[in-house]
Amino acid sequence: MTTQQTRSISIYIHVPFCRARCIYCTFPTRPAGPATQTRYIEGLTREILGWFESNPGYTVRTVYVGGGTPSTLNHGDIEHLLDTIREVAPDAGEITFEVNPHADDLPKLPTLINNGVNRLSIGVQSFNDEELSVAGRLHDSDDARNFINECRKLGYRNISVDLIHGLPGQTLKSFGQTLDEAIKFSPEHISLYGLSVESESRLARLPERQFRTLDLPDGDGQASMYELARSKLIEAGYNLYEISNLAKPGFECDHNLVYWVGGEYVGFGPGATSYVNGARYRRISNVDQYLAVQDQSKNTIEFIESLSSRRAAAEAIVMGLRLAGGIDRKGIETRYGVKLTDLVGEALYKYESLGLLEISEDNIRLADKAYFVSNTIFRDIIQ
Ligand code: SF4
Repeated sequence: MTTQQTRSISIYIHVPFCRARCIYCTFPTRPAGPATQTRYIEGLTREILGWFESNPGYTVRTVYVGGGTPSTLNHGDIEHLLDTIREVAPDAGEITFEVNPHADDLPKLPTLINNGVNRLSIGVQSFNDEELSVAGRLHDSDDARNFINECRKLGYRNISVDLIHGLPGQTLKSFGQTLDEAIKFSPEHISLYGLSVESESRLARLPERQFRTLDLPDGDGQASMYELARSKLIEAGYNLYEISNLAKPGFECDHNLVYWVGGEYVGFGPGATSYVNGARYRRISNVDQYLAVQDQSKNTIEFIESLSSRRAAAEAIVMGLRLAGGIDRKGIETRYGVKLTDLVGEALYKYESLGLLEISEDNIRLADKAYFVSNTIFRDIIQ
């Protein structure tokens, strides 16, 4: 590395393979055999090394390997990927690897921790077998229990658990039981996801008659589940530091904080986005197209958008409002050279008068009661 000053950046790496597709999934992912996976990792590692060769002067602060299900990769591919990460990110403080609690992935856990992974994000989703089965998950609640226990035995000290509210057939009571069980395992971090029916999901394509039998909780039901999660988890010692994320003190996810505070990041893999030098990049989303372009060692970027300072500031407001601490008004005004009241004053004051935003001279934050309607507020601010 040169003696010039380095800039901090984070890396997101997408592994677009899963054993099967969950009913609600919209991520770029598909099943793939070992040969395809190895071919992908070879192309991906070339791409990662190439990017850092062409963009010297960056120090990587955090790495997040997500998916898909990165833990479906075989040991050799995992080691190859983590070797590459070590090469470009020798000083990364946080290296997260997403895993699903599938019995076949248990043997990968030592490989991960021995090769630098220091944070696991486990796709538990629910501790209710019926809910897991209807959602198309391939693990059951015992798999999840065994998995978390095994992680602890191996020495993982920073574990995040994903939970979904709004699953078919889920009730406030069953979600409460899932929360109670999650709390017993004492993960350092919990991410909450509300299920939404997106047009690209299998769920949205079900025949109407079948869809109606699924007994999906409605918006009010989901809101009650979110409130229940918030109160139970805060009582158990977690801080709600972002709308959907809670952590024990000191275990907030550094990688996601980079997104929320408008830091720079580079993404690799289908659909991955980057934010570098004030521009947003997106790579090809279709997994097969991505593989074909990658095989030819061509550029996988399919979209570049240079953000105006007004647009960048509006996005920074929306991302920052996700954080419990809200946004530093002056910080954003100085960084983007815009006055927030000129930019989005109308929307801000509208939601302040509705009691959904708290605005002071230095700070703007979402009111607690606004968390569940935040998407509407964000859409209004960003338009
Ligand atoms: S495990 Fe995650 S990425 Fe894979 S199909 Fe299910 S929801 Fe989608």
